[in-house]
Amino acid sequence: MATYTQERAAELRENIGAVLNAIDSAAGPSVKPRLVAISKLKPASDIQALYDAGYRHFGENYIQELADKAAILPKDIQWHFVGSLQSNKAKLAASIPNLYCLETLSSIKVADLLERSISDRPALNVYLQVNTSGEDSKSGLSPLTQNRDELLQLALHVKRSCPHLNLLGLMTIGSFESSHDTSNPNPDFTCLKQSRDELRRKLVEAGLECNDLELSMGMSADFEQATREGSSSVRVGTRIFGERPRKN
Ligand SMILES: *Cc1c(COP(=O)(O)O)cnc(C)c1O
Repeated sequence: MATYTQERAAELRENIGAVLNAIDSAAGPSVKPRLVAISKLKPASDIQALYDAGYRHFGENYIQELADKAAILPKDIQWHFVGSLQSNKAKLAASIPNLYCLETLSSIKVADLLERSISDRPALNVYLQVNTSGEDSKSGLSPLTQNRDELLQLALHVKRSCPHLNLLGLMTIGSFESSHDTSNPNPDFTCLKQSRDELRRKLVEAGLECNDLELSMGMSADFEQATREGSSSVRVGTRIFGERPRKN
């Protein structure tokens, strides 16, 4: 693996420090969200530099890239997968021993494939992805309402039939417009919170034990607002690593 320059390492430390400070002031006395550094399309040396500065939570968008990086980077990194997982890649995802959380689960089919592929590791944390903006371009299940309960069905399936998966919470990407309008409560965040509260109520109603469910929301443009609105985990790429190269 290419080693990093001290100059680049200092730049990355400064960037992530600024993000952490912004999270601190946005959180005030409330519990701070976890910061996941989204390192997709950035070199492993960048991740190593932040690892050496003490950071452990990193996120990737392409499962093969995550697997390749996980193989050469320290084994106590806690990886988050934030991209869409095709069913033919479920086995690969399940084989990564330090995959901490799959943030984009949105089908029973993939849940079953993961469940069958996992054996000798602790339960894999999953977030269910919710398409809070309703945009066709976004993945995820519909928010939980009286007429749409696919989110509940998947949560029930994970709880009842997937002992190797741990339902940790819900995740949304949200619309570009909402993420760049910081004047109002962000409708995507409000929607995700409503789905979380409703889901928890239904799970308890179904007689299932249910810890508080986390919320993964907030990216470079809106992680401060997400923090103010109760996010448990923010996913920040550009503000830490700089602009990404185009993926061809
Ligand atoms: C790329 C990506 C991020 C990070 O985006 P930035 O705007 O660069 O902070 C967060 N979440 C997901 C799902 C992503 O794909």
